[in-house]
Amino acid sequence: MARPSITTHRLFVDHPLQAGASIELTRDQANYLFNVLRLEAGAGLLVFNGVDGEWQAQMTGGFKRAPGLSVMSQTRAQSMNADITYCFAPLKSARLDYLMQKGVEMGASRMVPVLTRRTQATRFNAGRARANMIEAAEQCEILALPELAAEVKLDRLLADWDLDRALIFCDEAAAHLDPIATLRRVTAKRFGLLIGPEGGFDEEERQNILALPQTVVLSLGPRILRADTAAVVALTLIQAVVGDIANAGGK
Ligand code: SAH
Repeated sequence: MARPSITTHRLFVDHPLQAGASIELTRDQANYLFNVLRLEAGAGLLVFNGVDGEWQAQMTGGFKRAPGLSVMSQTRAQSMNADITYCFAPLKSARLDYLMQKGVEMGASRMVPVLTRRTQATRFNAGRARANMIEAAEQCEILALPELAAEVKLDRLLADWDLDRALIFCDEAAAHLDPIATLRRVTAKRFGLLIGPEGGFDEEERQNILALPQTVVLSLGPRILRADTAAVVALTLIQAVVGDIANAGGK
């Protein structure tokens, strides 16, 4: 089947997908499709749920009368992201929205909000974060929605770190060495990425991160980047060396 055009609407649904399945739309989804986009019963769109690939579906009912979707045939099989856990210190509102979207667009497989001493956001709004992740996935033809983990304190994150997962630590205080050469030397198949808050890590936190045997220090160049920029740059480098920018299907 030909790829539908990029203007075809894509909707994330929290529902198993298979031919013949009928899906009840949530109030928000129904409002979006029937009222905002002004689509009607019979209109086609693409749906995905993060595990069953992408499917062609057709709208059924009406906004006030059993708004739903009927699932027809699969358009794309499920794809898997490279195993990259992106650990971020939550930023304030708009920057956090951006950060959640970019983590999805850049193909992280898991996103972990990490509380550090200088973390600015006092409360992590998981619902809003997830809505941003879904929106990015819907717009960017992404099938694999990263898992959003619960908030964790930095000490706990380090104490529980997997033995066979490299922790790529972006450290603006490190000597600037070629990041591509650094990443090429990593032998682990599973990756974590740790980026600090706007104010950076304090010295004690930094020492604790450096003390972890799985830590690989990464410099992102001679300039200090804001945390949201650093995330995009670091994920690009990782994907370009060991992930799906370098090769189809990861390392
Ligand atoms: N220390 C600074 C800047 C923090 S920048 C301050 O006191 O304000 C926010 C985060 O982005 C850092 O914790 C680091 O993880 C990452 N970062 C920014 N620029 C970087 C660089 N050139 N190399 C590696 N990481 C960088």
